Amino acid sequence: MSFNDIVGQERAIKILTKSLKENKTSSSYIFVGNEGTGKKLTAIEFTKAVNCLNLSKNSEACEDCQSCIEISKQYSPDLKIIEPIKNSIKIEQIREMRKEIGLKPFKNKKKVYIIDKAEKMTLEASNCLLKTIEEPPYYAIIILICSKIDPILPTMVSRCQIVNFGLISSGKIKKFLLDNTNNLEKEKAEIISKLAQGSIGSALKLLLDKEYFIRREEVLDYLSAISPGKYSDDIFTKVEKTVSEIERIEEMLEIIKLWYRDILIIKNTGDQKYIANCDKLEIIYEKSQIYSQEIIIDILDYLEQIEEYLIKNVNTRLILERLYIKMVGVEYCLK
Ligand SMILES: [Zn+2]
Repeated sequence: MSFNDIVGQERAIKILTKSLKENKTSSSYIFVGNEGTGKKLTAIEFTKAVNCLNLSKNSEACEDCQSCIEISKQYSPDLKIIEPIKNSIKIEQIREMRKEIGLKPFKNKKKVYIIDKAEKMTLEASNCLLKTIEEPPYYAIIILICSKIDPILPTMVSRCQIVNFGLISSGKIKKFLLDNTNNLEKEKAEIISKLAQGSIGSALKLLLDKEYFIRREEVLDYLSAISPGKYSDDIFTKVEKTVSEIERIEEMLEIIKLWYRDILIIKNTGDQKYIANCDKLEIIYEKSQIYSQEIIIDILDYLEQIEEYLIKNVNTRLILERLYIKMVGVEYCLK
């Protein structure tokens, strides 16, 4: 593994390697970007590079020195990765870190703390970490990894160097999948790369989950069969089935979201290039003729709201009933 193996993040890596070359690394960073875009891998590569005993002119770690080997395997005493426990990073974890960070590196130049999913820090944990970020020891580097920057304290953001991780193009994801997987058909790689929506992490999940395409087909069969204004009692059966598979609800909502987003794109531009469900073009064209822009936007807006409702534990049955009613366009017909 090296910086070169990280797909589609040339800009982020250029910022980091430039700071290494000029010997101007920051004491704290925020790596921000969607899940599965290579933030954590880059943070580990960066940890290797700042500590490598034989760093190349291009700021690539050698992979062979003791420091590189230990950091790659994530058992270096000078690399700590802090992650949420039961969905949040708690003050005790940061207190522990603050205690340790006072001790000099065990055997490396820099001691690196990677705080993964930093947006999950509690307010107390954030305030506690802020003290360290305000006065970090000269040998420490703190890297916060997050998918959104809004939940991070502004006072913290202002003290960190921000490195953005963009979405990875479907072409690069496809190439990565074909280069790294035996016997993967090109068509399958194409569909996965589009469904992954810029995330290699999502692409790998889709690739490894053997049942995913069966579940997707089931949802898309239903979506293909419904049309605005054709109400049926089936809605309540559907809601019951979805509630009984609640652990899959996010996946199902994502499939529905991409479906209507595709219909909207075709309706407005007719351009297939950005279609995620590239294996369903014909039916998407057909639906783009049937659905009005108003209904599609209403459904997409509601899908956005659902994400918040789910976090706030609003009654799932009610949310889903409303979604299905919107999808079959009952509300629209009654207006
Ligand atoms: Zn090395």
